[in-house]
Amino acid sequence: MQLFAYDLNEQRIFAKEAVKQCDYRCIECGKIIRLRGGLHRQPHFFHVQPNSACRLNGKGVIHLTIQNHFLSLLPQGEAILEHPFKAINRIADVAWINKKLIFEIQYSPITAVEIKARNIDYASLGYQVIWIMHDSRYNQDKLSAAEDFLHKNNQPHYFTNIDEIGQGIIYDQPALLSKGLRIAKLPASPINPSIPCSIQGLAKQTEEIPHVLRKRERGWKIFFQGDYLIEAKQKDPILLKDFIAKEDALICRANLNRITMEQFLSLPLGKGLFLVWKWWIARPCIAIMRLILERSCK
Ligand SMILES: [Zn+2]
Repeated sequence: MQLFAYDLNEQRIFAKEAVKQCDYRCIECGKIIRLRGGLHRQPHFFHVQPNSACRLNGKGVIHLTIQNHFLSLLPQGEAILEHPFKAINRIADVAWINKKLIFEIQYSPITAVEIKARNIDYASLGYQVIWIMHDSRYNQDKLSAAEDFLHKNNQPHYFTNIDEIGQGIIYDQPALLSKGLRIAKLPASPINPSIPCSIQGLAKQTEEIPHVLRKRERGWKIFFQGDYLIEAKQKDPILLKDFIAKEDALICRANLNRITMEQFLSLPLGKGLFLVWKWWIARPCIAIMRLILERSCK
């Protein structure tokens, strides 16, 4: 299913402007597609003969609804849905050409390899991909391989719960991760994709913020209004403090060897000194004492 097609004159046509029972051509595979939809169903094109090899064929109603949601959110005339990038053989879900941004909506399963490939392809043309993962499949207790990739490689991504009739939000929800599981989450914070923000213009976050946001601060090039990092000052300090305490507890439970130097250096001074004392002074001393006691008892 898709929202755009080529008409007989090879012109792109939007589903809302097309007519039923006419043949159109798929912009991806070139096969015949037709219009359907009605009072309770948004107009869209479908392949007359299902083509599993076509990447547009597999899109569902919710995917199209979210694409339309972006069209209504972004400045009029600036967002292009299903925009083909011939040089890299890709069709972007939503392209915001002026801002060099691509919004990729992910409702169905996707591999980490595919996420990486799309990021690299669009980056080769100077575009940044923002992944919008649907929480019917993503943002669950267990991280998918795709989410694990996005997290480890510090790539911008948010979540959505928008349903078939367009109700729901696009949101940010940082989580505390351990062994591929989300063990704590901050409350969802709605984001506005039409208001991109950069941290370059912002004063550096000096107050204590969660490590997950510090990491984001170092790696993401673009944020949106409502992003936890951008809005940290406006967020409930008790919730943030509670989350930071959980993060610190997790780090302290881990072996010092498993903490990266980057994480170690970003710890508050007291916590860092505590870890140095615990792992480099207290534990070796206890081990030596034990050894001495064992020998003296022989
Ligand atoms: Zn097709």
